[in-house]
Amino acid sequence: APFQMVDVHELLDSTITIFRGKIGPGISVVTDYDRTVPQIPAYAGELNQVWTNLIHNALDAMGAEGTLTIRTVHDADWAIVEIGDTGPGVPEAIRERIFEPFFTTKAVGEGTGLGLDISYRIVAGRHGGEIRCRSVPGDTWFEVRLPLRENSQ
Ligand code: ADP
Ligand code: MG
Repeated sequence: APFQMVDVHELLDSTITIFRGKIGPGISVVTDYDRTVPQIPAYAGELNQVWTNLIHNALDAMGAEGTLTIRTVHDADWAIVEIGDTGPGVPEAIRERIFEPFFTTKAVGEGTGLGLDISYRIVAGRHGGEIRCRSVPGDTWFEVRLPLRENSQ
């Protein structure tokens, strides 16, 4: 199927709605949208899978209490989506490995280690974008950069 023009804020809102019932009272959800982000050529369902994976990880990391932030930024030729959490963070020692398939620090049955691998393949491989993590304890962000125009690569 070809790319469609999609509104990232609509996609984010629909994913957040799906999580609403599963988010406990100790978690605040904050959205901070840059409304100048234009529609982008993308596979909507696949991007929803990315937001789902990143939000799932953020909620796992925080447990019962914290703040989940979903932010967008329009930066030149990119639409940037950032998912932030106030959990313990990604230790430096494993930062390089978290995008590898089957890498997980979760207990058997709680994590497959595929969420970030799939997200990387959707963002980079399918959309010509970039995904990266920056993290200190209490302040972790996953940044997804998506090109505003189809990347011929
Ligand atoms: P899974 O969630 O099944 O473990 P992922 O590929 O989604 O697999 O994530 C891989 C690993 O990256 C996690 O097990 C965890 O160690 C780390 N990680 C991902 N997101 C976060 C986060 N927001 N905070 C802390 N660690 C994270
Ligand atoms: Mg995961």
